[in-house]
Amino acid sequence: MRAAVVREFREDLSIETVDDPACPENGVVLEVAACGVCRSDYHGWVGGHPKVVNGSVMGHEYCGTVVEAGKNAKYKVGDRLIAPFILACGDCPECRTGVSNACEKSIVPGFGAPGAYAEYVAVPFDHNLVFLPESMSPAMAAGLGCRVTTAWHALTDRANVRGGEWVAIHGTGGIGLASLLLAKMLGAQVVVVDIVDEKLEHARSLGADAAVNAADGDPAAAIHDITGGGAQVSIEALGIEATTNASVECLGTLGRHVHVGMPSGSGQMQINMRAIYSKQLSFFGTRGMPSWKYPSLLGMIERGAVDLTPMVAREVALTGASAELRAMNGPTPPGTAVITDFTS
Ligand SMILES: [Zn+2]
Ligand SMILES: [Zn+2]
Repeated sequence: MRAAVVREFREDLSIETVDDPACPENGVVLEVAACGVCRSDYHGWVGGHPKVVNGSVMGHEYCGTVVEAGKNAKYKVGDRLIAPFILACGDCPECRTGVSNACEKSIVPGFGAPGAYAEYVAVPFDHNLVFLPESMSPAMAAGLGCRVTTAWHALTDRANVRGGEWVAIHGTGGIGLASLLLAKMLGAQVVVVDIVDEKLEHARSLGADAAVNAADGDPAAAIHDITGGGAQVSIEALGIEATTNASVECLGTLGRHVHVGMPSGSGQMQINMRAIYSKQLSFFGTRGMPSWKYPSLLGMIERGAVDLTPMVAREVALTGASAELRAMNGPTPPGTAVITDFTS
């Protein structure tokens, strides 16, 4: 099969013919219909992820059609499926209590196992997969990626956002945009924070009630003014110290901070604990979404409760993935690129 292989960090992926994947007994092989190009892939591509090395095939946001099923597989040949990026074992204490996104035995294709920047991908633990709704294009399904699922879980199961609440969103990348669209669907008021005016304007055009440019001064003070005393919920979508502090500082009393951004480097940060202490804040960590929540999310999209088409910016060929990764060296326009042509 054709695959885009990492050979040297920061260099074009090498388009190679590699062995077709072996079918796992407890899973399937998918013919990949679409695979999102994610900023997490960029971190691997520049050498910042220990599981992306010479010979790796990235790609963790994919959907496709079953072409081979293992003897213990749940699905059969011909099924059109979407995979969550975390393939949980289904049998450990976390999985058994519904927190399968924290499964310690989980497998993530693209990070340690061959991913879907290829014509085919092996998917073990196929009980994590869900049917692709008839009405949804593969590009849209893959474009939901880790962004939409992570944002959905952060807003609903972690922060428990209620209608009418103010939600502050720090960072208007993929997670930030997904959080905006979903928070609006939940009936919240949203204030977005970024340092790029074009991104703030784009967020306003997608329904943000207010926008704050953090380069213009203290974003927390601005949010206190806009919300009349502080936001009830704040989503940190970058994983850096400045936005983490802006997030806890922009909250009102009893506010809920949700830490979505993967902390960079060692993960150590100096955080304004006085803000957390004196305002009696809640501080939630979150990562991904358990796969059992997929059908309800897809159902809402299918019914038209939320329009996530702004999440997908363009479709590219497998050979176009390198340019998409390279573009992430600088600020990128809104929306994600999705690979939908694996033959060129
Ligand atoms: Zn597990
Ligand atoms: Zn991703």
